[in-house]
Amino acid sequence: MDITEINIEGALEKMEAGEWTASEILEACLENIKEKEPDVQAFLEVWEEDAREQAKSVDERRAGGKPVGLLAGIPIAIKDNILVVDHLASGASKILEPYKAAYSATVVEKLLAEDAVLIGRTNCDEFACGGSTENSGFGPTHNPHEPTRVPGGSSGGSTAAVAAGMCLAALGSDTGGSIRQPASFCGVVGLKPTYGRVSRYGLMSMSSSLDQIGPVGKNVDDCARVLSVIEGKDDMDATSVNHPPTLVEAVAHGEDSKFLSELTIGVPKEYFETEGIDPEVAKKVKETIAGLEIRGATIKEISLEHTAHALATYYVLMPSEVSSNTARYDGVRYGLSKGENLDEVYVQTRTAGFGAEVKRRILLGTFALSEGYFDAYYKKSVAVAQAIRQDFMQAFDEVDVIVSPTSPVIAFKLGERIADPITMYLSDVYTVSANLAGIPAISVPCGEIDGLPVGIQFMTPHFHEDRLLHISSFIKN
Ligand code: GLN
Repeated sequence: MDITEINIEGALEKMEAGEWTASEILEACLENIKEKEPDVQAFLEVWEEDAREQAKSVDERRAGGKPVGLLAGIPIAIKDNILVVDHLASGASKILEPYKAAYSATVVEKLLAEDAVLIGRTNCDEFACGGSTENSGFGPTHNPHEPTRVPGGSSGGSTAAVAAGMCLAALGSDTGGSIRQPASFCGVVGLKPTYGRVSRYGLMSMSSSLDQIGPVGKNVDDCARVLSVIEGKDDMDATSVNHPPTLVEAVAHGEDSKFLSELTIGVPKEYFETEGIDPEVAKKVKETIAGLEIRGATIKEISLEHTAHALATYYVLMPSEVSSNTARYDGVRYGLSKGENLDEVYVQTRTAGFGAEVKRRILLGTFALSEGYFDAYYKKSVAVAQAIRQDFMQAFDEVDVIVSPTSPVIAFKLGERIADPITMYLSDVYTVSANLAGIPAISVPCGEIDGLPVGIQFMTPHFHEDRLLHISSFIKN
């Protein structure tokens, strides 16, 4: 069995038909991990023994004719900022060492209730702060397509693991693009749901008003399946809401031309005029849009007026919330603790425990929230975020879907941008707006440049993941 070629639907069919067992699928993934992990380093920990037990239990129940869940026997990797009870959880930060989760995230409970096999925890930028996975406290992950390149971030371990066939799907988190940008760099599909569709309970908060957990898969159908399992209102997260469930069947086999001929796709003119966009990326994305037009979709140029301010807004709002959310890592409550008295504990623990990028964001955020600057920075950025959201709402009066590149560039070289935060932040230019507006967005592979994947991004109005998945299923990858 070549596990890199198999998707969730295929694996479930083979297991139902009795041709493969969950244990065999798991062993194929573990084999791949053994072979590729030295080059890729996608995982912080592989839960071999737990996973073997989960797979065995699924096999026994299947063999005994007992009912099994929707993801029975499917190996799924979990980004290491999502809690799994009694397992180490680090957020890829040294400050949490050796913290073990006291409870599981709701999404984890939901995966387990549908009999998914949890294969391990994946590397990421520290507390999800970054776009290359180089900000991990435990060393970078490498792009499986080309190990000298980054996998993107912050969910780079999750996207690299899926791309390398080390699991069939993974969970990531997306605050400003952390599922979609690494999905585009690794040539897999990554979806950020509408804010509120998926519970954040048990996700280490980065920027609570923007964070969402979402699926990473080899194809659109796999993402739909995982989303349909993890979504839903949760009493433990007051921002989660009730909504119509994701229609897996509708998107899985829905390549009907009627859908496309009734669809208007908006192309924001500002998104192709961005400084620093690789012309080859723009070309691939434009070709893909032209392909959709040939097949019947109506393409319309639109304007998202406040786009130019999206990055600046995000890079004020997000650090403000990061500075507040990271206050809990004080050397008293969790993980690492250094120093003799309270002041020393704060200073020494946080100095030794946090990496440079998290420290930078704490400083920026604390500044933006401080007296005298609050109105000029934080309050203003909240107002601009509102204007950005309004732009989208207006645009969606005219179009059903908005399209753009996921990232202005393909996977860059390890070390190339890490010393220059501004250049690093620029790679988030197309992804942050969906978080600020709260709308769902997806990245789907749409071609390659010199063997490295390019991603196209689609966005739809709040809670229209069905439309998002449906349009994405037309892009062949
Ligand atoms: N790359 C973005 C950042 O550095 C996005 C992070 C995220 O979505 N978690 O903040």
